[in-house]
Amino acid sequence: MSTQETVNVTIWNEFIHENKSDVVKAIYPDGMHNALKKNLEAVNPNLNCRTATLQQPEHGLTEEVLANTDVLIWWGHVAHSEVDDEIVERVRQQVLSGMGLIVLHSGHFSKIFQKMLGTNCSLKWREADEKERLWNIEPSHPIMAGIPDYFELAEEEMYGERFDVPTPDKVLMVSWFQGGEVFRSACTWQRGHGQVFYFRPGHETFPTYHNEHIVRVIANAAKWAKRPFTRLTHEAPNSMELEPVPNPSKEHIVDANQ
Ligand code: ZN
Repeated sequence: MSTQETVNVTIWNEFIHENKSDVVKAIYPDGMHNALKKNLEAVNPNLNCRTATLQQPEHGLTEEVLANTDVLIWWGHVAHSEVDDEIVERVRQQVLSGMGLIVLHSGHFSKIFQKMLGTNCSLKWREADEKERLWNIEPSHPIMAGIPDYFELAEEEMYGERFDVPTPDKVLMVSWFQGGEVFRSACTWQRGHGQVFYFRPGHETFPTYHNEHIVRVIANAAKWAKRPFTRLTHEAPNSMELEPVPNPSKEHIVDANQ
């Protein structure tokens, strides 16, 4: 049953590492998407989560699924190029018309994230099992509700600046890594009527999506990014005047020689 508080979430995962690596499989035996579903619903029962994967027809992201999705969560890494451009454009139009989009970790290089932001979204990285300390720099923001001033992940992949993204509407968290780098780890952007949230942690060989603070941030973000309505933005209609105007019947002139 759908109530005002219900947020219909679709968790999309390319679902490749879990099938190829015993390390990843041990952490996420049913896939990262199912772990996220279970953990998010435990934190907020109003999150009504379903999952979709790359391997499904239309990557599990049919028009019907997306029309009934308030927030789409995206995890991808090695198969960004295998995501069909037509599906990417379908997702983009949904975001512009109101659907929320949460992009996790290596999704920074996904087609949909690059397309929403318009930049390459590149960054520096290092796999060295190092500590990450995440600082909450906007404790009043709804996504930071219940998050302490800082928390640590014992081991994570390092992502370092410069993160090639447009200046975010809000930067909510800054990460510090054992090796010295810093990173804007939790950022928001509005695109059309939709809210986009990027959250950095989540390398597949670490149990990051079992961490209570990480799950809390994603759950808060799903609530925050909920689709407010669906309003298409792809057309620019000719508009009737509200008040008398000097030349109401003037035609738009198209030069016949062009
Ligand atoms: Zn990674």
